[in-house]
Parts: sequence; C-alpha cells; structure tokens
Amino acid sequence: MTEQFSLPPEAAAPRLGVAQRTLTRLRTVPGLAARYTGHDTVRTLDELAALPPLLKDDLNTALAHLEPQAEHGATWLFQSGGSTGAPKLGYAPTGFYMTGVHAQWQPLGPADVFVNAWGAGRMWGAHFLAAALADLSGCQVIALGSVTGEEYADWLGFFAARGVTAIGGTPSVLRLWFAHARAAGLKLPALRKVLWLGEAWQPQLAEDMAVVAPDARRWGMFGSTETWVVGTNTPACPDDTFHTLPEQLVHVGPDDLLDFTTLNPEMLNPVLRYRTGDAGRITDCPCGRPGRAMQVLGRRDNVVQVRGLGLHVDEIVAQLEREPGISRAQIVITEQQGRATGVDVLLLTDPTGLGTAVDADRLRAELLSATFTLSTGFQHDPQAVRVRKVPALVSNDRTGKTANFVVREES
Ligand SMILES: [Zn+2]
Repeated sequence: MTEQFSLPPEAAAPRLGVAQRTLTRLRTVPGLAARYTGHDTVRTLDELAALPPLLKDDLNTALAHLEPQAEHGATWLFQSGGSTGAPKLGYAPTGFYMTGVHAQWQPLGPADVFVNAWGAGRMWGAHFLAAALADLSGCQVIALGSVTGEEYADWLGFFAARGVTAIGGTPSVLRLWFAHARAAGLKLPALRKVLWLGEAWQPQLAEDMAVVAPDARRWGMFGSTETWVVGTNTPACPDDTFHTLPEQLVHVGPDDLLDFTTLNPEMLNPVLRYRTGDAGRITDCPCGRPGRAMQVLGRRDNVVQVRGLGLHVDEIVAQLEREPGISRAQIVITEQQGRATGVDVLLLTDPTGLGTAVDADRLRAELLSATFTLSTGFQHDPQAVRVRKVPALVSNDRTGKTANFVVREES
C-alpha cells in the first residue's frame, strides 16, 4: 500500500497537539463550525484524515474571524489569492517560519552573494521569506525585486561584476533573467545556485542556465502563502519531488489531491487539511536521503471546462513549448456570462532567430485537429480559436507568476 502521509504515525503523533489546537480554533468560526460536528479530537492520523478538507475560501473565512496575532514581533499580512482572483489575506510572523526550513536545507552560506529577485512589496510573501533564509545563512544579499524589460542588461552586468553566486525567483521570472542573458551573450561564471519557489520548475530554464551559468544548479522550495514552505529539494532530487519539513504534515486524499496540516505551534494560519489544488503522492526520493518525500503531479484545476468539455491546459502548453523557437505558451480563454467565446493561444518566442521561424498557422491547424475539446467545442466557429506570437504573456503583476491559463470575462 502506498503511504498516504508524509510522516509515519510515531513522528506525527507528538506534534498532533498543534492540529488539535487548530481544530478547536476552527470550531469557533461561525461559518465553519457546523462541518466539524462529530469531529472533536485529532489524536491519530486516522482522525485527521476523517476531518473535512479546507479550501482557499474557507481559510479566508476563518482568518476574518480569528485575526491571529504573532507572539513575538510583527504580524505580517500577505496576499493569499493565488495567481487569479481578488487578493485575500494570509498572516505570518516575522521570520516566516524559515528557521525550520534552514535546519533542513542550506543552499546558501556566508560566502554567497545572493540576488533576491522575487518581487518585493504588494503584500507578496516570497521576497521576505527568501530574505529570512539569507539572514539565517549569513550571506550577502542584493534585494533586487522585479525589474522592467530595458533594465535587464545593466543589472546582469552588475551581477557579473559583483561575482553573484546565487539568484532566487519564481521560475517565470528566472526564465526572463536567463533568456535575456543568453540573448545578449552575457555569462555569469560565478553563479552556482538558483533558488526557486512559486511555480513548477521549467525545463527550458535549465537549457538557458547551461549556457549562461554552466555551474549553476537548481534548489527548490514548495509552498504557498497559506502553508508557507512545506518542502525543499536539492540538485540531486527530481525537480517535482520535495523533502517535507517535520512541522508540515502532507496527506494524499481522493483523486491524489494533496492536503496540508501545520504541526508548527507558531503558525498563524489555521492550516488543517488545507487543499491547494495540487495533486501528488508520497514517495522515496532517488537522491537517497532517507524519509518520505512528496512528488507533485501538477494542479488538478488545470483541466478547464470549455463549452462543457475538459481542456487539458498543461498538456497543450507543454506540447507547444517543445516546439523549437517557442520559449513559453499560454492559453487565454474569453468568456461571456460563463460561456467560452474564444480561445487564444499566445506564443512567446525566443529572442534568437529560431523564434522568427515559428509558424503560428501551422500550429493552429495541428492544435485544432489534435485537440478534441477545441475541434468539437468550436465546430461551428473555428475562427474563435486563435494562435499568435506575442511580445509578452499575461502575467500577474502582484506575484510575478505567469499562469498556463487565464480566463477573461468579456463585458
Ligand atoms: Zn531528494
């Protein structure tokens, strides 16, 4: 039988008092109390697995009622709304729980010169979390945040001059840095470490890294603004596999959906069987480090309903990104009163010559014939399925993330 929890019962049991306390708090929330009827205790993993899962909106309902406050230092408010939708709130104390992360994962050391390229401000947490890790590592920090298109070359020159050894950001942001460096013929010979968090790793990033910084390796964190960091990996681990922290309990529920429970007594968000929409499984990591690891199998919500049929967004995007000259693809679905009126496939092409050779018409014809949902759903208006090259994809300014699909409401 596959293990369903990231911790064995004997390791989880001494920490379940935290889950019990979270349950007690959630039972005081008017909008949520009823669903916990009959669930009074969390003494065992079986009792935990029997609790109803929390979804994003539930957590916001709970936080609005509980208004948690940090025991020491400031209580930080962060945006916790994912890549789409209106901003919602999550809470964290100064330090952002990074002591536990640093205890198991030390990509940075005192000799490092680290560029923190996660966007700062706008209540987005990743920049500050990375700063807390740098603090524990004792390295030099260049707190850069996000930059605009024309600034890349100057900053890359500065990185090379400063002997930058490490950079961190979301994979979408890192792609921009490495693609600009590669297009400009710039090298970062001292760069050894690329820290990432916020999205799945992008294999094309490794290709650009191999040219720009041949000695650089990826170091990943997995988490969300609700759970904070759940697990980490090293260059020896597959990019989708993470060693979970002892203060984070991951459970695999029906349909392979992961849910997360905090076992950290300082956690302010009431995270108890919280579902992020990610699917995964508990496995052994081939890097050889003992203990259970979590393999993330992608987001279950990336199958989008279009005219009553499921469109597998990630598959289509991955297929397009294998085409020479295409660095990223994105699907934009336009809806009018809930009905899809059009599907636009946006192609971001390489700054190199290969990009100009990308034939959008051919790709459109192939996509229509190979994708049942598009050919059937748009049988009578195939012109509403469009494929085109664009100078930029649709990004979320707050988070620096570029989702594989975006839904737009037409007025
Ligand atoms: Zn590993």
